[in-house]
Amino acid sequence: MSQQQMQGQPMIILGDDAQRMKDKSAQEHNISAARAVAESVRSTLGPKGMDKMLVDSLGGITVTNDGVTILEEMDIDNPTAEMIVEVAQTQEDEAGDGTTTAVAVAGELLKNAEELLDQDIHPTSVIRGFDMASEKAREEVDEISVEVDSDDREVLTQVAKTSMTGKGVEQHKDLLADLVVDGAQAVSVDADDGSTVVDLAYLRVETQTGSSAADSELLEGGAVDKDPVHEDMPTDLEDASILLLDSPLEVDETEVDTQVSVTDPDQLQDFIEQEEAQLQEMVDQIADLGVDAVLCQKGIDDMAEHYLAKEGILGLSRVKKSQMQFLREVVGATIVSDLDTATEDDLGRGSFTRDEDEGLFYVEGADEDSHGVTLVLRGSTEHVVDEIERGVNDALDVVADTIAQGSVLAGGGAPEVELAGRLRDYADSVSGREQLAIEAFADSLEVVPRALADNAGIDSIDTLVDLRAAHEDGDTQAGLNVLSGQVENTFDAGVVEPAFAKRQALSSATEAASLVLKIDDIISAGDLSTEGEEDAGGPGGAPGGGMGGMGGGMGGMM
Ligand code: ADP
Ligand code: MG
Repeated sequence: MSQQQMQGQPMIILGDDAQRMKDKSAQEHNISAARAVAESVRSTLGPKGMDKMLVDSLGGITVTNDGVTILEEMDIDNPTAEMIVEVAQTQEDEAGDGTTTAVAVAGELLKNAEELLDQDIHPTSVIRGFDMASEKAREEVDEISVEVDSDDREVLTQVAKTSMTGKGVEQHKDLLADLVVDGAQAVSVDADDGSTVVDLAYLRVETQTGSSAADSELLEGGAVDKDPVHEDMPTDLEDASILLLDSPLEVDETEVDTQVSVTDPDQLQDFIEQEEAQLQEMVDQIADLGVDAVLCQKGIDDMAEHYLAKEGILGLSRVKKSQMQFLREVVGATIVSDLDTATEDDLGRGSFTRDEDEGLFYVEGADEDSHGVTLVLRGSTEHVVDEIERGVNDALDVVADTIAQGSVLAGGGAPEVELAGRLRDYADSVSGREQLAIEAFADSLEVVPRALADNAGIDSIDTLVDLRAAHEDGDTQAGLNVLSGQVENTFDAGVVEPAFAKRQALSSATEAASLVLKIDDIISAGDLSTEGEEDAGGPGGAPGGGMGGMGGGMGGMM
């Protein structure tokens, strides 16, 4: 430490292998890495965007159009490129949709920033200008957004459909949009302060293969895709007492593992009997509490299964933790870890209905105000159902955002073109280098309509000219509807997205671009020009070792 602070001058000690890149070349290097990532997802933007096939190192395949999924699976080992992936993740966490938009805008910001840097404008001015523009743009989003009621079914359905258009869910989007809106509304409550709170934790999405997406449904309560652990157990229960247990119904593993040396057969018999007695005692404890059904997150011993069946208790084992947590809310139970301390108060109440064809139990809470709904998504194969699930999850998030925030925008690039125009006006009022950065920011936003057009095979230059003209004439909702191929009022055409996701995409993109621009010095423990397989040398090693180009994972992408 003291060495690094010598004479008040920061000092960086490099190992023998260490490489260093400074200023311009460091920036160029970073910008091109980040842009490469952004460009790889740009072609998936919008309803006509192409899907990507991702092949992981084990040969597993994912076919998707979902920005964040693509980036997560790409297995990028370049630190700057990773920053772009983080933008997508932030966007996904905060808004649930708009990840491709955020990344495409970040890439375009960097491209335009590079031109400014070439004109010898200092990165600090660029960053400051971008921040000013981003803040201004977010204010303007409020100006151009349209207020909606939290129970405006028409708009909510449009929001759901807009988000699902062009995804693997497309074919069934009418049905799924209805289910998404019903589901989100089922878990919405009016708060005391007049706002509406949507808690998607009370909505569980289950997927099932083997049937058509058209058979997807929304259920009250939860669904558990487990079979009873014993064939003699009841399968349909009314007003049952339910125990949720997160410890195994088995004799303690450690006791089983200890070696028992048996000298005569009686001893072995004793040992088995002792084990059985322990299991019987556990089941007795459960029966004494008045339990009708026990859902166990861990395993249930064969003997215990037998005892449970004898008591007429339904037992399900290896229930997923997330499912347990959801069912806890549905039936109003406490998850029990230790049977010795369990009481009747820990039990929940509800009903079990068996669907033999689907291999599911439907679990409904008995309480009037029991919360929780389950969206069961069906599809022919795992790949199909996974892509449906990604599409539905995005739609759930945007519908929830819309219910909670109550403001939406016209889609199809309309807000981007409108914001770009407003930012250019704003730039005129700003002096200095920042003005150029604000203009560059405005230009960058137009990557959205351009990419929407390009991806749909529509001339992007003509489109942008038409769009700018319409906005100059005061049509703030003029966008490109790629379904009709026309520049039109996309709001009226039902292409609607939540304002919240757009605001978030603006800030995520700006943040990412700024992070990349702030770096003017790369110090790598390894070799900058190769993959950096060799041992990390000195201190200050960058994560991931090599900084040259993309990691091997990109090779799997088509
Ligand atoms: P993201 O990950 O950013 O959500 P998407 O691939 O879902 O990316 O594309 C979202 C973009 O597609 C938004 O700008 C939205 O307005 C636009 N969009 C959706 N439906 C249409 C449509 N019918 N015409 C034009 N643009 C559309
Ligand atoms: Mg989307």
